[in-house]
Amino acid sequence: MNKLIGVYGASGFGREVMPLVRKQYAHLNKEAFVFIDDADTINDLNGYKVITYKDFLERDTHNKYITIAIADSKIRQLLADKLIADDIQNIDVQADNATILDNVELGEGSIICHHTCLTSNIKVGKYFHANIYSYIAHDCIIGDYVTFAPRVSCNGNIHIHDHAYIGTGAIIKQGTPDKPLIIGNGAVVGMGAVVTKDVPAGAVVVGNPAKPLVKK
Ligand code: UDP
Repeated sequence: MNKLIGVYGASGFGREVMPLVRKQYAHLNKEAFVFIDDADTINDLNGYKVITYKDFLERDTHNKYITIAIADSKIRQLLADKLIADDIQNIDVQADNATILDNVELGEGSIICHHTCLTSNIKVGKYFHANIYSYIAHDCIIGDYVTFAPRVSCNGNIHIHDHAYIGTGAIIKQGTPDKPLIIGNGAVVGMGAVVTKDVPAGAVVVGNPAKPLVKK
């Protein structure tokens, strides 16, 4: 039966992920790959068909797989739950030059982009996105639906809880085995921030050293 692989999200990140997926399944024809987007505004993107999720479900094959290439973690969770309800399998995506060393546990549905590195003794939850040039060093524990923008430096002994978003170029100071540095649930670390201490759940921090964002 023909395989159909959908990249969910036909926007910025989806367009970056499609070539990784294509390379990962290089033995398949181009027709086996589609973008899935519910906005239903375009039919074709970079030479691939764009279809809605409803259309994807209606395609006449049971051999269907999806990667959710949408940076918003709440949307990712909603769509991941939808895949379970509809019995559609998700796939893990990994760039061919990503580096993963020893004893790295990676949850389902991850997207690991080009030039990323996960060193040793790391645990990562479901639907993690590591955008280009990001790294995670030793003894980090990353929750579910965590998003790294490009070039995040996540040093050793850091715990990042579910739905946290780490902005481009952020640097997180390493913790210690007895006192890991903690980024709380749903926290947002702004681009270029230098995080030197724990970030509470739901907080937005920016700057060097990173401090809570004061809205004017
Ligand atoms: N989207 C969708 N179904 C949903 C939610 C979002 O198809 O339930 C699509 C949305 O139409 C958009 C894409 O996901 O095209 C998200 O794009 P955005 O530019 O917001 O994010 P990024 O590409 O940066 O992750």
